[in-house]
Amino acid sequence: MVYLKAIEAHGFKSFADKVNIKFDAGVTAVVGPNGSGKSNITDAIRWVLGEQSARSIRGVKMEDVIFNGTSGRKPMNFAFVKLVLDNRAKTLQIEADEVHITRKLYRSGDSEYYINDEKSRLKEINELFLDSGLGRNAYNIISQGEVDEVLKAKPEQRRGLIEEAAGVMKYKLRKKESEKRLED
Ligand code: ATP
Ligand code: MG
Repeated sequence: MVYLKAIEAHGFKSFADKVNIKFDAGVTAVVGPNGSGKSNITDAIRWVLGEQSARSIRGVKMEDVIFNGTSGRKPMNFAFVKLVLDNRAKTLQIEADEVHITRKLYRSGDSEYYINDEKSRLKEINELFLDSGLGRNAYNIISQGEVDEVLKAKPEQRRGLIEEAAGVMKYKLRKKESEKRLED
C-alpha cells in the first residue's frame, strides 16, 4: 500500500515558514492548541490532490489558501504544498519508489501541478489516484459531517462510494469518455 511519508508546505495558510512534516509508518496523532494549524495539514493534503472547492478547505475563494500575513509578517504571494508518497508497493502506476505531488498557486491566479517534479495537469493527478483510495474524492480524509452524509446518502450516491472502494471508477470514467468521443 502506498503511504504518506512527508508533507512540505510553504506559504499555505498558516505555514508561512517552509515546514516539512514527516510521518512514520503506523499511526500519527497531531496535537496542539486551537487554531495552531492541525486542520490546515489535512487541508493541505486535499488541496495538493486537486481540491477545486475553496469551501471544502474552509475558504471562500482559492486565494485564501495563500498565507495572508500577520501583524508582524507580510502576506506571501504563493502557496506551495508537496506530498511525498512511498510507492514501493507500486500502488500508483509510476515506476518510481517515491512519488512527489506538488501544487503551487500564485496570487495572480496561476496554478501549477507537478508529478515527480515534472509539470502535469490536474487530469493526470486525478488519473494517477483514481481507484488508489487516495484521490481527493476518496475517503482517506473524513471531515466533520461526512459520516452523517454517508448515512443520509441516496442509494445511487452510496453505490458511488462502493464503486470507488471496489476500484471500478476508472473503467466507468473511460467508458464515459469513449461514449463522449462517439457522440462528437
Ligand atoms: P482547532 O483545534 O480549533 O480545530 P486547528 O489546530 O485545527 O484548530 P486550524 O484550523 O488548522 O487550527 O488553523 C487555523 C489557523 O490558520 C487560524 O489561526 C487562521 O488564522 C490560520 N490561517 C488560515 N488561513 C490562513 C492564511 N491564508 N494565512 C494565514 N493564516 C491562516
Ligand atoms: Mg481543527
